[in-house]
Amino acid sequence: MIRAKERIDTRRALRYGVCKRRNTMQTKRCSHCRKVKPLDAFPTSDWKADRSARKGDGRRSQCYRCRDQRRKEIMSEWPEDKRLQASRKQQTFSRAWDKAHPHNVRSRQANQQARRRGATGRVSEDEVRLAWERTSGLCWICGRTASEVDHFRPINKTAGGENTASNIRPVCHFCNHKRDHQWRGEGYAMKEAEILKTLRDLADEHSRVTVHADVGQGG
Ligand SMILES: [Zn+2]
Ligand SMILES: [Zn+2]
Repeated sequence: MIRAKERIDTRRALRYGVCKRRNTMQTKRCSHCRKVKPLDAFPTSDWKADRSARKGDGRRSQCYRCRDQRRKEIMSEWPEDKRLQASRKQQTFSRAWDKAHPHNVRSRQANQQARRRGATGRVSEDEVRLAWERTSGLCWICGRTASEVDHFRPINKTAGGENTASNIRPVCHFCNHKRDHQWRGEGYAMKEAEILKTLRDLADEHSRVTVHADVGQGG
């Protein structure tokens, strides 16, 4: 049972945005499938009750999976053209939403990757955003604009890295795909990063020279 004093503190915390409950209670039970899931497995809600200081956590009571399941069932009764129109509309919307929430997309990708490779841990949108802020959105290896989430210690079975906030770093596509997927220690990884940076600089220099040569020939 929550004591009265504690309860008042929680309500005040909720009102001023430093929410005690939101920081501690990271999971909840879906009202439909009855499974306990992380909070970000539930759609956000604008309903007054969901946002209230006493009961609300700002999320719906059913998880994404149950909601989508129910939507599918409803839509299966619709005529073909109506269904097609709705799915196109949904596609346009989710594309626009993803574009407006790049860190959310990245956290989803990292979590999906980790699940596929059997790695433990989970990163939230905020944790990815923090990682991005730490390097001002630049690749930790070469210093160019980053586009993907890198796991400093790779998350495959043999490397044994975890999908956690302390293990993720912003990386560009080039560096991410050139990195070794084995783990030979932090010192090795830092040396590898240095080499990759040199490689990237050389590749850029080379393409610059080639472009100049082409322009020279054409003129
Ligand atoms: Zn559910
Ligand atoms: Zn890079």
